[in-house]
Amino acid sequence: MREDCDHLHEECGVFGVWSSGQDATRLVYFGLKALQHRGQESAGIAAADGDSIMMRKGLGLVDQVISQGDVAALAGKAAIGHVRYATSGARDWQCAQPHLSNFGDATIALAHNGTLVNADDVREDLVRQGVRFRSDSDSEAAASLIGLRAGDLHSVREAIRYMMRNLEGGYAIVLLCEDALYAFRDPHGIRPLVLGSLGKPEDGTWVVSSETCALDAIGADFVREVYPGEVVCVSSEGPSSEQGVPALAEARCIFEHVYFSRPDSVECGGTMYGMRFSMGRNLAREAPVETDLVIGVPDSGLPPAEGYAAELGIRYGEGFIKNRYVARTFIEPTQGMRELSVRMKLNALRDSVRNKRIVMVDDSIVRGTTMRQLVRMQRDAGAREVHVRIMCPEVRWPCFYGIDTDTQDQLISARYSPEEIRSFIGADSLAFLSLPGLLRCVPAGGYCTACYTGHYPVRVPPRQCEGHFLEGSHPRFPET
Ligand code: SF4
Repeated sequence: MREDCDHLHEECGVFGVWSSGQDATRLVYFGLKALQHRGQESAGIAAADGDSIMMRKGLGLVDQVISQGDVAALAGKAAIGHVRYATSGARDWQCAQPHLSNFGDATIALAHNGTLVNADDVREDLVRQGVRFRSDSDSEAAASLIGLRAGDLHSVREAIRYMMRNLEGGYAIVLLCEDALYAFRDPHGIRPLVLGSLGKPEDGTWVVSSETCALDAIGADFVREVYPGEVVCVSSEGPSSEQGVPALAEARCIFEHVYFSRPDSVECGGTMYGMRFSMGRNLAREAPVETDLVIGVPDSGLPPAEGYAAELGIRYGEGFIKNRYVARTFIEPTQGMRELSVRMKLNALRDSVRNKRIVMVDDSIVRGTTMRQLVRMQRDAGAREVHVRIMCPEVRWPCFYGIDTDTQDQLISARYSPEEIRSFIGADSLAFLSLPGLLRCVPAGGYCTACYTGHYPVRVPPRQCEGHFLEGSHPRFPET
């Protein structure tokens, strides 16, 4: 986790369009804007016009990186795009995606959401084979592996299968060649990826996206998820599908439902908003408290706060005003600057909370420093009591599959009891939703819950684990 923030962050969002008639690049541009919440550090689009692949990428928000002139210049029948929040790899231009890789005279472009846990081993192997890397990103290792094997095997499809057999972790990838668009997902389905279509399917415009909210943004219909281990290919012959590697025990990232995905994104017919509302209801059943007002910490704490209030029949209201125009700032990682950063984004609404006993609902507590500041803000604004409720269990374990919790010592719940954390943040009471309570709110299926339980669905090489766990803690990984 970054020194300059106190929140878990998604690594990336991906989007791709194959179109027989529409300007795919323009659609990808709008799709990326709808996925901007998944990454604000870099953005990029690669487009294929039938002969070659062109690309524009850089550091910043989608609008800062890609101008309307770029969209016009990149116009193509197929395109992929990426927004990034760096966790693996540095924060420089070379890590911005898509990554290009050549094989023979051909080029592929690859955009990746997730983390490949054994990328370092694969990279070292490729370096021994003479491959030169421009960045330290795991996504470039995947692009290079596919490019190299596609040259050897004379088949991109075979090369993708080879990559899926040899790279492990959480991934949702879109890949563009001059003559086809591919979308594939890790065999546990850790990172999300959905398939949509625009217009009638026979019109031939197919879309892949990290979330359904971006399908809505361009007017596309949701068709289905890309299945764990599946490779979807769209070309002038239409869409086709095959199992790249056998699907393994399903392990969707449950944090997508708690926080990462946009509230209007849909899974199994239900919105993330509805699931978060239910989390608030369950939290109220598990940890009720008599108060005058329920508030949420914007934005992710708002739906569970509404659910909490509805369940207990307490008034729900606004307790913070959010400044929506504060872009991400790369500030000095001192505590003072972190506090200033929180103040720039949120301010307590005095009229709403003065002289009231309030419940404040949020999605998670990571370091605890931001929550302490938010509690203090509410007290300074006149709240008589501040009770904190968290819509998921305590985050105690680092994530290796695409979320930026690097080391366990950064997580306050890994070191302290709930009572100690309550005292640290200065709340009158503190409670977390239980894991069964959380699982009751999401669609039936298998979930990765490793950041709460320490039971990891994918083996992580010992060198990647080094220094990530506190002494005496016992994470559990699969045997093979
Ligand atoms: S460890 Fe947590 S954040 Fe990471 S994939 Fe699993 S549920 Fe998601």
